[in-house]
Amino acid sequence: KASWLQRLKAGLSRTSSQIGGIFSRRRIDEELLEELEATLLMADCGVEATQTLLAELRRRWKHDKLETGEQLRAALGEILVKLLTPLQQPMQPDAHKPFIIMLAGVNGAGKTTSIGKLARHFQSQGKSVLLAAGDTFRAAAREQLMEWGRRNDVSVIAQDGGDPAAVAFDAVSAARARGIDVVMVDTAGRLPTQLHLMEEIAKVRRVVQKAEPSGPHEVLLVLDGNVGQNALAQLKAFDQAIGVTGLVITKLDGTAKGGVIAAIARTHPKPLRFIGVGEGIDDLQAFNAVEYVDALLD
Ligand code: GDP
Repeated sequence: KASWLQRLKAGLSRTSSQIGGIFSRRRIDEELLEELEATLLMADCGVEATQTLLAELRRRWKHDKLETGEQLRAALGEILVKLLTPLQQPMQPDAHKPFIIMLAGVNGAGKTTSIGKLARHFQSQGKSVLLAAGDTFRAAAREQLMEWGRRNDVSVIAQDGGDPAAVAFDAVSAARARGIDVVMVDTAGRLPTQLHLMEEIAKVRRVVQKAEPSGPHEVLLVLDGNVGQNALAQLKAFDQAIGVTGLVITKLDGTAKGGVIAAIARTHPKPLRFIGVGEGIDDLQAFNAVEYVDALLD
């Protein structure tokens, strides 16, 4: 089985074949810079980040007297690493007990999959985990989470129908009573345009805080890397509703839009805790700016 970094490289190759492909055996000129600008936009770096990157590259081209495409690629790598490094902030689950993580996202972003991966991650660190099945809309989603919990020795708090905020309250109270290390409060998938559902998730957050005044300690937004610039719109809306403190970006193993992380770093930076690089239980990796940029420009 390929290592996750190889899979990331293979996945991002749809992005990097656009970007990385244009440097070799060329000299730097206006034409190359314009081509680079177009490919960065195509890779979903967004207008602001692309302009920032290009301006800095032009400055270095003149100031540092860069000549070859390869030198330009190296300069781009340096600038990208500088842009993305502030996002590289690992989660600190030892800071509280229980450490309360609330998860949000649109349907299909990879929330359920990421919860499974995260539970495995925490268990492998010797931590006990409890889940709150906050998707009270879909009985099937709840069943799926409970079945998964049984198989993986993770307790799941659920309620038939019921109020997601009440489930969250029960879960946090249970975690405190049982001395659990990490509670993950799942929420139903929702779109930022569904205002009543955005109000509902804001209430879940308030009720979690009622159950534990220091929490939630992490409000994690799960974003699908394939949606490109739309991820930014989701981030802004969820941030406004619930105060996002960290991101998981999924499906980076098969996307041509890997530049979206640069767009986030430039216009709405949030700690990128983990990236999803596959469907398997171990396919979740702490974000590392140098590795990511390497894969992007490979
Ligand atoms: P939810 O609706 O947000 O809970 O989304 P799910 O967790 O059900 O995921 C939706 C689909 O995306 C499923 O088929 C997952 O296997 C897939 N998925 C989730 N994360 C990743 C990832 O990092 N890489 C790939 N390739 N697929 C993923």
